[in-house]
Amino acid sequence: MRFEELGLIKPILKALKDKNYQEPTEIQETAIPPILKRKDILGCAQTGTGKTAAFAIPIIQLIHRIEGESNKEPVIRSLIVTPTRELAIQIDENISSYAKYTKVKHTVIFGGVKQGKQVTRLQKGVHILVATPGRLLDLIDQGYININTVKIFVLDEADRMLDMGFINDIKKIIKLLPSKRQSLFFSATMPNNIQKLSKTILHNPQKIEVAPVSSAAETVKQYVYYTNRTSKKKLLIHILETEGMKQVLVFARTKRGADRISRDLSKQKFRALAIHGDKAQNQRQKALAMFKEGKLRILVATDIAARGIDISKLKYVINYEIPNLPETYVHRIGRSGRAGEKGIAISLCEPEENQFVKDIQKLINKKLIVVEDHPFPQTDKPMTEKEKKEWNKEKQRRKQEFFANRNKNKKNRRR
Ligand code: AMP
Repeated sequence: MRFEELGLIKPILKALKDKNYQEPTEIQETAIPPILKRKDILGCAQTGTGKTAAFAIPIIQLIHRIEGESNKEPVIRSLIVTPTRELAIQIDENISSYAKYTKVKHTVIFGGVKQGKQVTRLQKGVHILVATPGRLLDLIDQGYININTVKIFVLDEADRMLDMGFINDIKKIIKLLPSKRQSLFFSATMPNNIQKLSKTILHNPQKIEVAPVSSAAETVKQYVYYTNRTSKKKLLIHILETEGMKQVLVFARTKRGADRISRDLSKQKFRALAIHGDKAQNQRQKALAMFKEGKLRILVATDIAARGIDISKLKYVINYEIPNLPETYVHRIGRSGRAGEKGIAISLCEPEENQFVKDIQKLINKKLIVVEDHPFPQTDKPMTEKEKKEWNKEKQRRKQEFFANRNKNKKNRRR
């Protein structure tokens, strides 16, 4: 199918040509026509499928038709709420490129930075507002934003929104929206709590499902290296050295873990930086920009920080730690192999994570390819329940000792 067949207006078709999009992706083909007909949508789709354009393009077209030629000051006609700053910025960037030949005005707001510039932009008037929940409610409270003019509401990445504890914020936002509106609801997974939430938002929605989460990105080749906890660092370095990878996204479970990995890699002369929630927004943006431009070889990220990273040609994703939720694994590997590109996902599995690999294989209904020919094979056995309990106690003891020492050192320094 061609974009021309979806009933899109010329200014948008021209912008898509500039983006060099040859044809609509599956979700664009199925979602754009009903959205243009003002239907509510319940979309089960993960990032990498072209989901952003699937909702952004028809929204721009609808607003352009209603407001485009009006000389009145713009009011917010569409509100797009998304869980992370990176994703919000990315959606707004996409809107910029699709709307560049229209008069549709848009902006993005998110927390972690001063609000001044965002408020100034809002005061000039916008048709489309992309926002993260916290900053949105904050600016509504301060009287800078009024959302009762909204005609199209988008809730993006609803499952992640709930994982991040935004449920109450979402409920507050919905109460402030006009009840007569069009709503588009997207989530990569549809567990019960998400379906329940969708029912409170949508009215007689059209259901759209592309590449269900369990099918994983078909274009990504998935490998697993079984190893020991103590040899993971060496194995990672071995893989980076032997595979000649240029742009690698490494996933860590915790913020401290991400920092540790990037520090260890830097010591080995690999150019690596970490991004996570404790890093300042401008640091995160800078690291991401360097990574996208190919100036930084390795980016180490936590799941939340990596959400919304959109690098169209990213080939390698490495799971330094295997997530305990198989859906998270699918989100992670979906960072590579986007929009039809070929991707490679490598998981480093220590004995305690063997079960996680089994869970993943069950969800995606596919076996990961086991790489046996490497210098650090798994020799340890997974811990028994008793050993695990003891190990947790030991970890707790070490942690307390660490903090006690740190406090002592601080006191001594003050003296
Ligand atoms: P998304 O799923 O919205 O995060 O999009 C994933 C990537 O696919 C982004 O880099 C988009 O720019 C790109 N993309 C979206 N639609 C198309 C299309 N029709 N043709 C080629 N690339 C696309």
